[in-house]
Amino acid sequence: MKERMKQRLLSLLLAMAMVCSLTAGMPVTAFGADQDIVVLYTNDVHCGVDDNIGYAGLALYKKQMQQQTPYVTLVDAGDAIQGAPIGTLSEGGYLIDIMNYVGYDVAVPGNHEFDYGMSRFLELAGRLNCGYYACNFMDKATGATVFAPYKMIAYGDTKIAYVLSLIHILTLPTSDLVQISVVALSLKKKKGDYGPLQFTRDTVKRHKNRYI
Ligand SMILES: [Zn+2]
Repeated sequence: MKERMKQRLLSLLLAMAMVCSLTAGMPVTAFGADQDIVVLYTNDVHCGVDDNIGYAGLALYKKQMQQQTPYVTLVDAGDAIQGAPIGTLSEGGYLIDIMNYVGYDVAVPGNHEFDYGMSRFLELAGRLNCGYYACNFMDKATGATVFAPYKMIAYGDTKIAYVLSLIHILTLPTSDLVQISVVALSLKKKKGDYGPLQFTRDTVKRHKNRYI
């Protein structure tokens, strides 16, 4: 069983394809086994809907991957909705529509997701089909995370937890921090002092057959 898990992990690592900023020069790997897990991700698209392969190309690439394995996951790592007129004119709304069309599975906000204000971002977050996830984005009043701290996705009998966190917290709009604050991320485990990311990882570890 252990050996099998190892093989699965190896296969996951080999199958990991990167679509950074919708870059066209992504590694194309021959995904032979139909049980490979393919993780595609975008980050810092900044409304560049037609840049490089564009969202249309990404949607097509995702479909091509899905023809080879049922286990394809598309992640956005932030800064998608701000940076060009299509974002400014719709206050991020058109980008959410496009992301829904492409079919993201997991997303974490970047610092620029907050550029249209906190309430607008929370509104947009409610419209993103896959939802946003962040383990260190806290509601000051309740101390709870604003979004779910992680997303667990099952691929057959293997589960993978996508534990996501916000960075660049200093650029968030300070006026909004009255209601919602972001606690600093700490990967270091001190005595009795767990950072939110470590805490979430510990929580996820209770699940069986999972990778983080
Ligand atoms: Zn960025």
